[in-house]
Amino acid sequence: MVIVGGGHVGGRAAQALREGGWTGPIVRIGAEAHPPYERPPLSKGLLAGQQTAADCALRPPAVEAAEGIQALEAWAEGLDLARREVLVVGGPQRVRRRIRFAGLLLATGGHPRRLDVPGADAAGLLSLRTLDDATALAQRLRAPRPAGAGPLRLVVVGGGFIGLEVAATARALGAEVTLLEGAPRLLGRSLPAAMADQVAALHRRHGVDLRLGCPPLAFARQPDGRTRVTLPEGEALLADAVVVGIGITPATELAQQAGLTLGPGGGIQVDAQLQTSAPGIYAAGDVAEFPSPLSGALIRQETWLNADTQARVAAANLLGQGLRYEQPAGFWSDQYGHQVQVAGEPALGVRTVRRLLRGADPLADPLGAQIDFHLNAAGQLVGASGFGPVADLAKEFKLARLLVERRRQPPPEALADPTLKLKSLA
Ligand code: NAP
Repeated sequence: MVIVGGGHVGGRAAQALREGGWTGPIVRIGAEAHPPYERPPLSKGLLAGQQTAADCALRPPAVEAAEGIQALEAWAEGLDLARREVLVVGGPQRVRRRIRFAGLLLATGGHPRRLDVPGADAAGLLSLRTLDDATALAQRLRAPRPAGAGPLRLVVVGGGFIGLEVAATARALGAEVTLLEGAPRLLGRSLPAAMADQVAALHRRHGVDLRLGCPPLAFARQPDGRTRVTLPEGEALLADAVVVGIGITPATELAQQAGLTLGPGGGIQVDAQLQTSAPGIYAAGDVAEFPSPLSGALIRQETWLNADTQARVAAANLLGQGLRYEQPAGFWSDQYGHQVQVAGEPALGVRTVRRLLRGADPLADPLGAQIDFHLNAAGQLVGASGFGPVADLAKEFKLARLLVERRRQPPPEALADPTLKLKSLA
């Protein structure tokens, strides 16, 4: 079995192949020098210095070694479908070799999008995708400041989860933070507008200078090492560091070269069993474009839950089990002791029912907490989105997620009534 990609999916799939009874060779090809790691700590605990690189490892490397999982630090540059071989290049000598496969999993993830504005390439902008990216940013954020220099001035470009989590961590470390989002609202791809407004209010309360509808127009490195960031209407900021988190593009080079079908969203198209257009070749994680278990439409998900679950399903199917991927989408984000939680696909809803867990108006009340339930025209739950202090939200949201996963059709009044236990609806 060959896995291309040494990230979360690559690590979990190798584990699942062994657990599923595969005793033959497993070769995992990955370009990074690290064993597979989990990404959630990269923008939080690892940046803040509360977690180390070893803490982020998906599994102890010794366990993988004991299971005979062979990790090859190399780049997969070609796929020969007829001979069922992957062409890899690796090592200091850039040696080329072919690796034959019985089954193949493409878990190639994505590349961070780059800013296409003057000066962006030369300005030393940072991104946050890999463990090495996070380590480099952590060093910048936590380096002692020269006497009299004041706090570090950080500019974050992009109001998605990377940008927001980095902003929250940097504020906790004492940096001054300006966040530039090009769109008129935060989190346009992933959150309903009302909740995105709450997230914006949370960041402003914690002192982030949040600019919406404000993409950077140019960057210039200054003689003193700082970066000048030009904003619309001629304003300029001077930053000690700039982090860019403006999304990723799926890494489909290998699939394209082999002529595999891509989906309209640019990912590798797979069926409900995560099989690509080539029999015996599967794709999973950020790169896979799969039929939504809730709507049937082709979607991609760039989340921990998707990586973890698809890795297990793809591994089972490489072993001939024919499982369908039925896990509704879901993710969470921790910022300033608050949590954003999403289960299912809120955008599929035509009606929203709010359940207040605490406070009357969560937008005005800093400690307010709520879960919004999203129902389709038939009254079936297709999503839930929650916001509030972790202590108020986390436990209750687990039940909300369960309701979505079980595709329940509860009476809206029951969902809205905080005295009625969600457990009783599950
Ligand atoms: P993202 O969620 O796609 O957000 C990127 C944001 O940057 C969008 O709001 C985008 O607006 C904006 N943007 C695009 N071009 C811009 C420009 N030139 N100037 C200013 N803003 C610009 O991507 P991400 O935050 O980089 O994260 C990458 C992936 O990792 C995402 O799928 C994310 O959800 C995932 N992730 C998840 C978590 C979590 O679940 N807790 C944490 C971190 C990352 P438009 O939408 O208008 O383009």
